[in-house]
Amino acid sequence: MLKQALCAVVLAVFATSCSTTSDQCCTDSGSTNASTSRMKSLAEFQAQAAKFKNRLSLPQFETTTNEINATADATMASGNALLDTVGKLSPSKVNFDNTLGALDRLGHQVGSTMNRLFLIKETSTSEAVRDAATEAVKKLQEWAVGLDYREDVYKAVKGYADTKPKLAGEDAKLLEETMRDYRRAGLALPKAQRDEVERLRKELTGVSTDFDSNIAKIQKPMKFTKAELEGVPDSLLGAPGVKTGDDEYTVHINVTWQYLAIMEHAKREDIRKRVVTEQHSLAMKDNLPLVEKLLILRNQIATKLGYKNWADFQIEVKMAKDGATALEFEQKLKTGLQPKFDAELAEFRKLKAAETGDANAQIYLWDWRYFAEKLKEQKYTVDAEQLRVYFPMQRVLDGMFAIYQRIFGLKFERVEPPYKWIGDLQLWAVSDSKTGEPLGFFYLDMFPREGKFNHFAEFGLIDGKRLADGTYQRPVCSLVCNFPPPSADKPSLLTHQDVETIFHEFGHAMHTILTRAKYSRFAGTSVPGDFVEAPSQMLEAWVWDKKVLDSFAADYRDPSKKIPAEILGQLKASKYAIYGNHYRRQLSFGLMDLMLHTQITEANIKDAIPLANQTLSDTFLPVPEGTAMVAYLGHFVGYDAGYYGYAWADAIAADMATVFEKAPDGYLDANAGRRLREEIYAVGNSRDANVSIEKFLGRERSIEPFLKKIGVN
Ligand SMILES: [Zn+2]
Repeated sequence: MLKQALCAVVLAVFATSCSTTSDQCCTDSGSTNASTSRMKSLAEFQAQAAKFKNRLSLPQFETTTNEINATADATMASGNALLDTVGKLSPSKVNFDNTLGALDRLGHQVGSTMNRLFLIKETSTSEAVRDAATEAVKKLQEWAVGLDYREDVYKAVKGYADTKPKLAGEDAKLLEETMRDYRRAGLALPKAQRDEVERLRKELTGVSTDFDSNIAKIQKPMKFTKAELEGVPDSLLGAPGVKTGDDEYTVHINVTWQYLAIMEHAKREDIRKRVVTEQHSLAMKDNLPLVEKLLILRNQIATKLGYKNWADFQIEVKMAKDGATALEFEQKLKTGLQPKFDAELAEFRKLKAAETGDANAQIYLWDWRYFAEKLKEQKYTVDAEQLRVYFPMQRVLDGMFAIYQRIFGLKFERVEPPYKWIGDLQLWAVSDSKTGEPLGFFYLDMFPREGKFNHFAEFGLIDGKRLADGTYQRPVCSLVCNFPPPSADKPSLLTHQDVETIFHEFGHAMHTILTRAKYSRFAGTSVPGDFVEAPSQMLEAWVWDKKVLDSFAADYRDPSKKIPAEILGQLKASKYAIYGNHYRRQLSFGLMDLMLHTQITEANIKDAIPLANQTLSDTFLPVPEGTAMVAYLGHFVGYDAGYYGYAWADAIAADMATVFEKAPDGYLDANAGRRLREEIYAVGNSRDANVSIEKFLGRERSIEPFLKKIGVN
């Protein structure tokens, strides 16, 4: 029943792909679509969009280093000119459009350019072009920081705010948040203090960049004998560059997958301990002084701006609103997880006692991954690799598209892109399935290649925005993926984790494309940082649902074979079995981050590292002596006083998922999907996230679904 209903949607879009059982046929659904019902051209979509007063356009991609440099220069020149115009307005001439409207237009222009260059930096096939794009992005970012401090522009905007205009809704929010930004940059302070804040902010940017590059340049090869690496799989031992002598293996512990292969599989405890200790000491020499500098600068900026601490400053613009609220949330979770965490450690201890013969064996930081893996193998007999046969790439994409089209009331059609940065690039138009209104485009860049971004992600390109002539600029984004390339005898086969990731990333694409926000500042995914991941994290639940998976996943050799329920059940149980460890570890970073950014000032800076280590040890497992993993924590810059957002968004995601879970059609329920589209995606940040979430839920938020999911009673 469910499957048939879904098939109807599939049939409408993928003409023949659903009625056939051959995967071969599915591998070219786009051209199948084209051959049975001619592929529409870009111009046809644009003409259709015009009927809805929508503007549909694609980015004009730079293809040479000269073009990139010229774009960066032109963007800064036109931006400066626009700001000059705003800055010259006399107090009697200011109005909404020539101040706030102008700034949003500038934001849209600069944002589109930066987005495009950012994508080029991650996807161009030319190293020179990637390097030029990297430089251009850096230059534009530096230039953009200085824009906050254009006093002439601030005076014009403040002049308009001082007229106390009667605004409502999105307009009022734009004024309020623009003034808030100026205040946060220090513009409301007397000149001398403001200059000081500007100086501190610039210094902070510099130190942050140094902190990041110290992490990026770390190389940590460690040499082992074969005997020392007992238990470590051939996927590491046989990897290029690892076997470096007769009985010598060189492992780079700064490379995450190599580090994990050791931590999960090396049988010898002394080896695991050595590796964890080294990993927790990475970048210490260079970055410890910078950690202190960053904490002092952040605290100085926050207090000069009138905040108690950096956490209050950072979190003011998020859902949690202040440091104390975030801290309380994390601490409650920590306490709630104690019984489950204890029970999991007891399981690990049993396994360790059995393996070592030591009845009093204890679990240390270097043990948990290893025994979590043993638990998976012994208790859940899960081999994630064996699920790959059910996830041939094209089947997953077709199935995922069918699901998103169904729940959000959309139609995806393939369009021939006028420009391709890679030969097999796909471009898809998204329209409303009922009205036929074109809503935007997404690109699909599928396979790995040299120099390309190496994970899965959604990149925004053009944000949605109501233009001056009343038309609506529809958004464009790109999914950058790294599906395993097909081989001579097999199609591209995904892991279940890949499938989860692509469902997550495609959720971001929907968030971007389905926007109706008037201003680009509020469009799409530009929602508070502790909320933005929630809708996508929620969509990960889809790939754990047998009904959802059965709508597309099938053995590529014999598509009548669906995923056995017990394998899925085991996989789910094995994930649940270590939630206590997973979340207590995550909370250890979140709490460390919040403690440092609420407790440390210049006066007690020498307490910073002990406090960080103490928090990590109290929340998860004791850290090895003499280490300081904060020096190697990339999130310390960029997610500062923001790491809590992962758990915060997870809690909202679990709550939001209940709307689908309780709906008649479950995760495929079109009414629930419609509400998600209208109350969350379409509004973006044009209204308070709390309001949007409650409108979607139809009730107040609750943390209970999350607590239940992770095993807190
Ligand atoms: Zn995400």
